[in-house]
Amino acid sequence: MSALPPPGTPRARPCPTCGAPQLAAFKPFCSKRCAQVDLHRWLSGAYRIPVVETDTSDADADAADGRREDS
Ligand SMILES: [Zn+2]
Repeated sequence: MSALPPPGTPRARPCPTCGAPQLAAFKPFCSKRCAQVDLHRWLSGAYRIPVVETDTSDADADAADGRREDS
């Protein structure tokens, strides 16, 4: 079973946050967490809002749980 597209697939862009293959449900990110991370980067420079931590029980496919802070 191939849940992830092979590397180098033209249409499969990596998650801008961690570089993992993106999920359609969280485009262009691979998970809700990465989407929030990117969103926080955006807002942290302009606004200040509380992080909405909703249920992420279905986001356990985040194999690349790197905590790197690449900018
Ligand atoms: Zn990601």
